[in-house]
Amino acid sequence: MVKIDREKCIGCGICISVCDEVFELDDDMKSRVKKGADTNKECVKEAADSCPENVISV
Ligand code: SF4
Repeated sequence: MVKIDREKCIGCGICISVCDEVFELDDDMKSRVKKGADTNKECVKEAADSCPENVISV
């Protein structure tokens, strides 16, 4: 289960560059989990660790 605190997401795109199978930016330039994405992927944790705002929790 992955949660993104979208209020605090700054849309920097780092999570997408680390793990683009799972994360994408929506029209508001906030990160979200792609539909049907496998959130157990190893890169999800990496993305959470890489987020400068620390808004991804796994
Ligand atoms: S790395 Fe964090 S702040 Fe940057 S787009 Fe992803 S969730 Fe938002």
